[in-house]
Amino acid sequence: MRDLYLVPYPQEMETLAGKLLITSHPVFMAPTIADAKERIALASIEEALGDLPKRDKNGAKIEIRVGSMSTLKDVSQWLTEQEVLRLKDVSEQGYLLKADRMAVTVVGKTPIGALYGAQTLLQLLRLHQGRKGYTVPCLRILDYPSIHKRFLAPVMTWYAGYGRMGFCMQLWGWEQWKWFVDWCLEHKVNGLMLCIYGYYPFRFDEYPEAVLKDLEMNTWIKEVGGEMTIRYTHPNVTNEFLPRLIKYANERGIEVHCYFGLDTFNGGYAMAHPESRYFSTNDGKFRQFKYNLCPSREDVIIYLQRSIRKLLDIGFNGIVFEQSEGAVFCECKECRRKYYGTDNDPRKALHRADYELLKMFHQVIKDAKPDATLGVMMWRQGSEMDMEYLKKQKDLIPHDALVFWSNGSDYEQFVGWVEAFGPERIMGQDAHSMAWAPTYGRLFFMFPEQYSNYVSFVDSSYKPSFPQNLWNDIRQYQQAAKHRCRGVTGFAFDWHGWEIGPLSLAQYGWNPDIPMKPRDFVEYGYRHLFGKEIGSRVAESTLNLPIVLESRICEDVIKPVPRDDPLKEGLVNITALSVPTKFGEGKGEVKALAADLRKAQKSFHTVRKIRKRFRGDPHYLKSLTFLENAAERTMKICRAAIDYRKALQLEKAKHPRADPIIKYLTSALDSAEDNYRIVRENNFDLTEEFFDRARGSIQTIKKRLEKWMTSQG
Ligand SMILES: [Zn+2]
Repeated sequence: MRDLYLVPYPQEMETLAGKLLITSHPVFMAPTIADAKERIALASIEEALGDLPKRDKNGAKIEIRVGSMSTLKDVSQWLTEQEVLRLKDVSEQGYLLKADRMAVTVVGKTPIGALYGAQTLLQLLRLHQGRKGYTVPCLRILDYPSIHKRFLAPVMTWYAGYGRMGFCMQLWGWEQWKWFVDWCLEHKVNGLMLCIYGYYPFRFDEYPEAVLKDLEMNTWIKEVGGEMTIRYTHPNVTNEFLPRLIKYANERGIEVHCYFGLDTFNGGYAMAHPESRYFSTNDGKFRQFKYNLCPSREDVIIYLQRSIRKLLDIGFNGIVFEQSEGAVFCECKECRRKYYGTDNDPRKALHRADYELLKMFHQVIKDAKPDATLGVMMWRQGSEMDMEYLKKQKDLIPHDALVFWSNGSDYEQFVGWVEAFGPERIMGQDAHSMAWAPTYGRLFFMFPEQYSNYVSFVDSSYKPSFPQNLWNDIRQYQQAAKHRCRGVTGFAFDWHGWEIGPLSLAQYGWNPDIPMKPRDFVEYGYRHLFGKEIGSRVAESTLNLPIVLESRICEDVIKPVPRDDPLKEGLVNITALSVPTKFGEGKGEVKALAADLRKAQKSFHTVRKIRKRFRGDPHYLKSLTFLENAAERTMKICRAAIDYRKALQLEKAKHPRADPIIKYLTSALDSAEDNYRIVRENNFDLTEEFFDRARGSIQTIKKRLEKWMTSQG
């Protein structure tokens, strides 16, 4: 059964002997008055089968039946009495699929179940070897989700215009987004929480200054052989597709919510109106939260309300508001008066202001679109995870708000969240592995297995503990199902090369008890995506690719992945992240890097070979290209780091001659430059701050090299 590579893996499946052979156009059977979702199901099966002859030589006519209990006049024509009883017993999204040598029958409990059954059928179709046509194995499936809502959080903009512009799906237009929605349906994902942070990727005539239009940025132009300043406009501003996309998704049972700041990074307003931001007499105090908007200002409130109405006009089914992640709050006169208590605690002031905003926005939403929903992502600072505190906050937010953030990396805390809000309000956010993905500067990190050899060679007592990885995402989906949470949400802030993350959400959100370990699911999942033959090799190449950042090259570019601890104003929980980040001078450093280099080389050669031969979906070709680049860059980074250290060692030993030092530094520089060449030729957005590590390493090596060259005369 595993060799069918279905994702999600069905809840109950029984394979029978034989295969159904489809070599001529089948007879499609549907309810007299079919539901729109059933019509989509039928059309997609017909499209997948393509042009088949009208009639088979042997005269056999295959039937494909698609319907649901709620639309079929007489379901007993297609199902036995016992099958009807079983189907009645499962979720509204459930379906029964059976295939024998003469017919395929798909019956949903409701039309969305029928549409899901059709997705399973599409995954079962195999090209027939020899004759033109398809085969379907004879089997019986009863399938239904364990969790009602299975959401992904992709990005349309992410701090666009605030120090970066966008990469991957942030640059997509209609065709790619439509492909993505089809991907979601194929894997039975039924909700999106589309991140819109930074300048708005839509036209907004009331506030043109807030729109991602004609923004200046630098990019590398190959023909020029250098960087050029251009003006960038988001594809949805140039050619609006978002309303159509939401409609397209809704027709396929996929809700689309906007993942939006409560008063942070809402369009370009804070850039155009600095007077409306948080105020403090101490300028540096707010750091990245300096762009938050002051909730006491009338212009801010009007702007935010109009923005929310605009989002609802576009067609969003709901808005998930994220509270500022900082522990700072506006110190203007009015905010001090209205929100600060005698303890002067900015976090409590922030909460008070936010409860007020939520209440107001809830009203705006209900007035404009009564069926739209409101979600929150709040209380993320460590000190406030205390359950007694949370229980008290419950009544301060709108009573029907869904809770999208809940601590998924700590099981006991997660149970506390479920108790505080009730499982019916929890949307079980994952452990964030794919929210962190972009902070690696387009290198690949998702599994603890990828920790650099630095761990074992340099500090053998070190225990990787960084919780943001795929295994913990999966654990969160499983625990959310165990506690009967309303939903699960998986971050998908990056796409090409990272599909195994969203695929895990699709699998474990639907069926958390799949009979295989997460590690085995990764291989199974890659085989599902890339095909049986090469899938295993892609899985192996990603799991074995070490994560080594450019900050390992030289000491001046130690730029830890920034994550502020709002309480201690230091870096929080980055022990494991500091492993790929830190510049070490330990004894085993060169040996560890050499071992990483060997692993990266192996991944690189495997993926390159696969990529060159790959003839499948171009979206997956892009994924292979991404992985190949990540592996090649890891090789270059390791080489540069090794050569730089060798030069340092000679310096330290007061080597009598300069030329071997110069030789090592020159070679380190070549590798560091190669790394940045791959960056700039494959990434549109060079303003991306995480590329500073790549640029910084070049500068540091250059400086040292120049010093030695000068000393040589
Ligand atoms: Zn204020």
